[in-house]
Amino acid sequence: MSLDEIKARIAQAETRAGRAPGSVQLIAVSKVQPDARVAAVLDQGHRCFGENRVQEAAGKWPGFRARYDGIDLHLIGPLQSNKARQAMELADAIHALDRPKLATALARLAQELGRCPDLFIQVNTGEEAQKAGILPADADGFIAECRGLDLPVRGLMCIPPVDEEPALHFALLAKIAARNGLNGLSMGMSGDFESAIALGATHVRVGSAIFGARVAAGTEGAAG
Ligand SMILES: *Cc1c(COP(=O)(O)O)cnc(C)c1O
Repeated sequence: MSLDEIKARIAQAETRAGRAPGSVQLIAVSKVQPDARVAAVLDQGHRCFGENRVQEAAGKWPGFRARYDGIDLHLIGPLQSNKARQAMELADAIHALDRPKLATALARLAQELGRCPDLFIQVNTGEEAQKAGILPADADGFIAECRGLDLPVRGLMCIPPVDEEPALHFALLAKIAARNGLNGLSMGMSGDFESAIALGATHVRVGSAIFGARVAAGTEGAAG
């Protein structure tokens, strides 16, 4: 698969869903990929990327930012509170706001830094014990809490359980977003982004379908 093919499939899925062309943002998930592969995608003109580890992003993206203008970097993996400052300094968007303690930390840092990345609240739609995210039953309250802290909440994010029909989870996420007046929906990965677009995704996170299989297997953590 190539970047162009994925972009074409996204455009077709937008049309099928009766959505405006360009209404879905493609986040190219570059975690664990060698720099040469990432540079090749940058050279094709793509600028929106996703990383799931702060440490890896910090090692990789300042250098790319120095070489390429207009990079839009999204952190999509679980975020420890002690890495929140670094994450806020690095990223244009954070997709893993999932607990009150992190919300408080981000709000304090936003005050101090005078800026805050776009935030997506991660919802654990499958209610899986090992997965990050606020439980669906707690989502409305947590969204209100984040808004009360003046955090720029743009939308919701989910990672469906591997062994379940993803469309059910995308539909649930869309429902929670709609009743809370949120427009952003970060959902859909290499195997299911077309289904996510049909159900309203505004941001799809596609890694292996663009870059090929991740080389260093086993280093990507539970979020993968
Ligand atoms: C790795 C990752 C992706 C991309 O997965 P692919 O199946 O390679 O497209 C998307 N979202 C998150 C949170 C990830 O960690």
